[in-house]
Amino acid sequence: MQPVDTASRLLDAGAPEIIACTVCDALHEVKEIPEGGRLRCTRCGATLLRSPGKALDRILASSFAMVILVLSALFFPFLQISASGLSSATTLLQTAFAFDSGFTAPLAFVLILLIIVLPVTRAVALAYALLPLRLGLRLLPGTKAAFRLAGHLRPWSMAEVFMVGCVVALVKIGGLARVGLGPAFWELALIVMIVALEASTFCEKTIWRMIDQKSRS
Ligand SMILES: [Zn+2]
Repeated sequence: MQPVDTASRLLDAGAPEIIACTVCDALHEVKEIPEGGRLRCTRCGATLLRSPGKALDRILASSFAMVILVLSALFFPFLQISASGLSSATTLLQTAFAFDSGFTAPLAFVLILLIIVLPVTRAVALAYALLPLRLGLRLLPGTKAAFRLAGHLRPWSMAEVFMVGCVVALVKIGGLARVGLGPAFWELALIVMIVALEASTFCEKTIWRMIDQKSRS
């Protein structure tokens, strides 16, 4: 069975577009989505599709903000600790490389991957796939692969987990030394909010539909 070929033949023949609810599997015929509204499953009420609205603008703005914030967070101080007249500041990279020896060495690699490499890769993949779509240009080669990659990387952007760990550690250290939060800390906090905001408005199915319609036109 080749589901891709079958779906493409049905659409080419002018058959109505059918969508399955990802929660309860009920099938629905896609009708006009009201501007700013959404289509809901008649069986379970889950959202099937949202009106595209400003979705592309929001995703692209989040992606550009993410790249700028993550890359600049590498160079600004993350934490400043002072105790007994001695003071020390550390950047995000220095924090990660604090684990670069002994059995904790893989932790440095994982930390850099989850906090820096994967979020930036996802943002670049989203911009690559969606910027031409937003500008009304021809889709770039590999657009679908780039958007698929962004979907796979989504659960692996873990800045928020790192931030929770840092806050817990800071509460402990706070009793022993004076801790100052550097610009990179606030940039990471901003990234956590951007990721949460983007996740609350991101409808992957709607974007896939837009990519599909553009690639057929
Ligand atoms: Zn449903």
